[in-house]
Amino acid sequence: MKKMATGTAIGTGMAIKNALKIHEIVKYPDPVLAKKCSPVTVFDEALRTLVEEMFESMYVAQGIGLAAPQIAIAKRLTVIDISFKKEPKDKLVLINPEVIGRKGSQMEEEGCLSLPEIREKVKRDAWTKVRAQNQHGEWFEVEGEELLARAMLHEIDHLDGVLFIDRISRLKRELVLRKIKKLQKLGEW
Ligand code: ZN
Repeated sequence: MKKMATGTAIGTGMAIKNALKIHEIVKYPDPVLAKKCSPVTVFDEALRTLVEEMFESMYVAQGIGLAAPQIAIAKRLTVIDISFKKEPKDKLVLINPEVIGRKGSQMEEEGCLSLPEIREKVKRDAWTKVRAQNQHGEWFEVEGEELLARAMLHEIDHLDGVLFIDRISRLKRELVLRKIKKLQKLGEW
C-alpha cells in the first residue's frame, strides 16, 4: 500500500543495509498481480532475508505495505509498517494470513505501489482480526482498526490476486484503466 502523506525525503535503505537486495515493484497489469499465491512452507534464513528485503524495498518505494506478488513472488507473504519506520513495534510480517474477524466499515482513499498515481476511496472493514505466521513460522493474531485494518486487508487481497481497483465501482475502474492507458502511451507507466 502506498504511503498516504508525502513526507520529507528519506535516506536510501540501500546505503545502510548494502547486503539487502532492493526489489523492483511490478506494476499493474503484470499477470503475477492477478495470481492466487501459494502458501509459504519453508521458514528458513532465505525467507527471513526476503522479509528484510521486502521491508527495505517497501521503504525505498515510500510504501506502508508490500505483498510478495508485488516483487513477482507468488507466495502468501506480506510486510506492513503503517508508521513508516517511526515505531519499530508497527513492523508487521504476515505469512499465510487469514482474516478471522471483521467489524464495521470505513471508506477512505487508498493507493498501491503497483498502481502509482492512482488513488480511490475503497470500502473496507473498520476493524479486523488476522491470524498469521511470522518469519519463524510461529502463529499469532493481530487486531487492527482504521489504517492498520485497511493496510492488512489491502495486502491480504494481493495474495488472492485482488487489487483495490477491483473493489471500486465499474465506472470508476473504467476511468482508472483509461488513465493508465494514457500514461502507458506517454511512456510514464
Ligand atoms: Zn497494493
